[in-house]
Amino acid sequence: MSGPESRASGCALITGGSRGIGAAIAQALAADGWRCGVNYRADADGAHAVVDAIVAAGGEAIAVQGDVADPAAIDTVFATLEEHYGSVLCVVNNAGIRMDGLGATLSDEAWSRVLRTNLDAAFMVSRRALSIMLRNRYGRIVNIASAAALRASPGQANYAASKAGLVAMTSTLAVEVARRGVTVNAVAPGFVQTQLTADVDSSAILEHVPARRAGTVGEVAACVQFLCSDGAAYVTGAVLPVDGGLTA
Ligand code: NDP
Repeated sequence: MSGPESRASGCALITGGSRGIGAAIAQALAADGWRCGVNYRADADGAHAVVDAIVAAGGEAIAVQGDVADPAAIDTVFATLEEHYGSVLCVVNNAGIRMDGLGATLSDEAWSRVLRTNLDAAFMVSRRALSIMLRNRYGRIVNIASAAALRASPGQANYAASKAGLVAMTSTLAVEVARRGVTVNAVAPGFVQTQLTADVDSSAILEHVPARRAGTVGEVAACVQFLCSDGAAYVTGAVLPVDGGLTA
């Protein structure tokens, strides 16, 4: 199946698409002709605003509620999208949380909730999507990792481990499915101002960023848009830093 055929007969799922980086990714993929499932856990208003913006720009999208850390919810999200748009042939594992703390005192709950949302959920969503992508001999998976996977980030042992796990999962799955026209890649953003980072002192981080500024949600979305495009058909297993040189 070609890219244009896939976009016409299938759809894209963006987990955590109700705001921030995920919202920008949904809008970018919709602009490329993907019919989008804008997933959210609690932020229904945000998800519906993203859908409205996509429709106003001439695209197609629906909001799909579901906590991606819950396997039953993942099934419901896929069933809803399959009913509306057909097969999910493009997945962006973007949903993510932080629960920071120094390793010496980090709670079991902070460790397991972050790993469950950022890593386990991405695996479960990818597994659910892959069987259909392999049958269609076409698919795009992009995992949103982080510079924290590549460079020490004190106070984020759980977050860094989850994102490093995503990087390892990306290359492994990519090699497993490459023969079937399915690509699996990751982007690793540096500092981007969103609700996730609202409590972070940006000046301390930006001192270490060669570009001396934060990234924008649009700059991350543009990279994801490329990795989901036909032009990126031979790019797989890659981790693309989008960090102003932070990890160079
Ligand atoms: P935001 O907090 O702004 O957005 C997170 C999104 O994830 C929201 O839509 C939220 O929806 C959703 N979400 C969280 N948990 C779940 C869940 N269990 N199920 C479904 N949706 C969920 O964060 P960002 O846009 O900044 O981050 C997006 C991704 O980018 C994350 O993976 C993050 O780790 C990564 N990243 C961000 C960086 C930054 O500097 N901002 C840097 C590097 C990586 P709801 O509120 O409804 O739960």
